[in-house]
Amino acid sequence: MTNPIPFDNSYAQLPDRFFTRQNPTPVIKPGLIRVNQALAEQLGIDVDWLTSTAGLEVLAGNAIPAGAEPIATVYAGHQFGSWNPQLGDGRAVLLGEVVDGQGARFDIQLKGSGPTAYSRGGDGRAPLGPVLREYIVSEAMFALGVPTTRSLAAVTTGEPVFRETALPGGVLTRVASSHIRIGTFEFFAVKKDIEALRILADHVIDRHYPAAATTENPYLSLLESVISRIATLVSQWQQVGFIHGVLNTDNMLLSGETVDYGPCAFMDSFDPTKVYSAIDRGSRYAYQKQPEIAHWNLMVLAQSLLPLIDADQAQAVTLAKAALDQFPLAFHAHHRQGMAAKLGLTTATQTDEQLVRELLELMQNENLDYTLTFRHLSDPTNHKLLPVRLMPWIEDWLARAATETDGKPDYKLMRSVNPLCIPRNHLIEAVIKAAIEDNDFEPFDALTQALQTPYVERPLENPLTQPPRPDQIVQNTFCGT
Ligand code: AMP
Ligand code: MG
Repeated sequence: MTNPIPFDNSYAQLPDRFFTRQNPTPVIKPGLIRVNQALAEQLGIDVDWLTSTAGLEVLAGNAIPAGAEPIATVYAGHQFGSWNPQLGDGRAVLLGEVVDGQGARFDIQLKGSGPTAYSRGGDGRAPLGPVLREYIVSEAMFALGVPTTRSLAAVTTGEPVFRETALPGGVLTRVASSHIRIGTFEFFAVKKDIEALRILADHVIDRHYPAAATTENPYLSLLESVISRIATLVSQWQQVGFIHGVLNTDNMLLSGETVDYGPCAFMDSFDPTKVYSAIDRGSRYAYQKQPEIAHWNLMVLAQSLLPLIDADQAQAVTLAKAALDQFPLAFHAHHRQGMAAKLGLTTATQTDEQLVRELLELMQNENLDYTLTFRHLSDPTNHKLLPVRLMPWIEDWLARAATETDGKPDYKLMRSVNPLCIPRNHLIEAVIKAAIEDNDFEPFDALTQALQTPYVERPLENPLTQPPRPDQIVQNTFCGT
C-alpha cells in the first residue's frame, strides 16, 4: 500500500547539527476542526484518509505516518533587534516533505505538537485561538495572492493549555515551501561553521533558487534572489494593509513566504504608524516600518553569507552591499506598480506616486477604512459611498485616468487587486470566541470559506465585508504562545 502522505524528505538528510529528531507528543482526545481539501489534493494526500480517525491521529501527533522523519529544526535570530543565539522549533515538529504534481516541494509541520529540545521552558503547545487565527489569516493571504505558508488542518487536543488562564489546546498542520529562516543562517554563521553554512546555502539554492547555481557567484546570486523576493513580499503586505507584527529574523523565510501569524493584523482605518502587537512596545514593526525592517533583516542575512560570497572578506562586503542597495529600488518599483494598479492605472508614472500619497493622507485624516476605500473606488456606482472630502481627489484621479487607453480607470483591474473581504480582527475574534466559549466552529468555517474569494462582489450588507463598529474595534493582538 502506498503511504497516505507521500513523503520525500530532504532536510532530515542534512547533518545532525541541523536538527534534533523528535516525535510529536500524543494528546488525550483529538478532534477534527477542519481539513483543507484543496491543499491536501495538491499535495497528493488522500482526503478520505486525512479526515478519518487514522488521519486525525496523525494531525494530532498521536501517530507517526509511514515515511515521516519527525525533527525539530534549530535556528537563531534577532528578536526585536536583540541577538538570540539559540532558538529552534520549540513547539513544532517537521514531519517531512512532499513533492506535488508540479514538482514543488513542501514541508508538513505540526505546530503545537509538544516540547522539543528547543522549548526553553515553554510547554510546546498552542492554544486553540492562535491556531484558528493562523489558519484563517494564512489561507486568506493565499487567496489574496500573497506568498505564504499554508494551513492543511486544525485539530483540538482535548487538553488545556495554561497561559494567563486555562485555554483549550490545538494543533495546526502548517505547509511551507520550507521553514528555512534568516535565523537558520545566523545560527551557523556565528558559530563560524562554514561547512554547515555552505550545505544550507546549497540546499536553499537547490530548493528555491535553482537558477543561482549556474551563475558565476551562486551565493551572491542567492542573496540577490532573496532580496528581490522579500522586496516583492513586503510590497504586497503594504498593498493589502497587512502588519506582520513580529518581523524577527527567525520569522523571515528564505523562500519569501510570509510565516508566523502571531500578533499579525490587517489595518481597518488607515494609519501608517499602526501597531497591533501587544509585545511591540517600541513600535519597531509598525506598518510603515516593514520595508525598512525587512531591509535590516536582509542585511543580517548578507552578513551571514559573507564567508561564502568571497574568500576576500572586503570584496565580499562590497558585493553584499551592492546587492542590499537594490532592496529599496526593488521595493519601490514593485510598490509603485502595485499602487497604480489599485487605482486602475496600468502604467505607473512619477506623478501617480503623488496621487497615491494624497489619497493615503486623506484616508489617514478622515479615518477611512483602507480596504473599503479602495474597493469603493473600484466601482463608479460606489463613489457616492465615499466621503465628500474625497471628491476633489477623485476628480484629480479621474483626470489622470483620462490619459489611459480607455479614458478611465481600469475598474476591472481594480476589483482584481482591491479585496472586499479581508480577515479583519473583529471577525477573527468573534470566530475564536464562538469556538472557545460555545464550541461552535460554524463561524470559523464561514469566515474561512468567504476569505477564499476575497475579490468577488458581495452585498455590502454582508457583515464579513464591513469594518468594525466603534465598539468592535480590536486595538491589540497577542501572539498567544
Ligand atoms: P515565535 O514568537 O513563534 O516566533 O517563537 C519564538 C521562539 O519561541 C521559537 O523558537 C518558538 O519555537 C519558541 N516558542 C514559542 N512558543 C512556545 C511554546 N509554547 N513552547 C515552547 N517554545 C515556544
Ligand atoms: Mg517564529
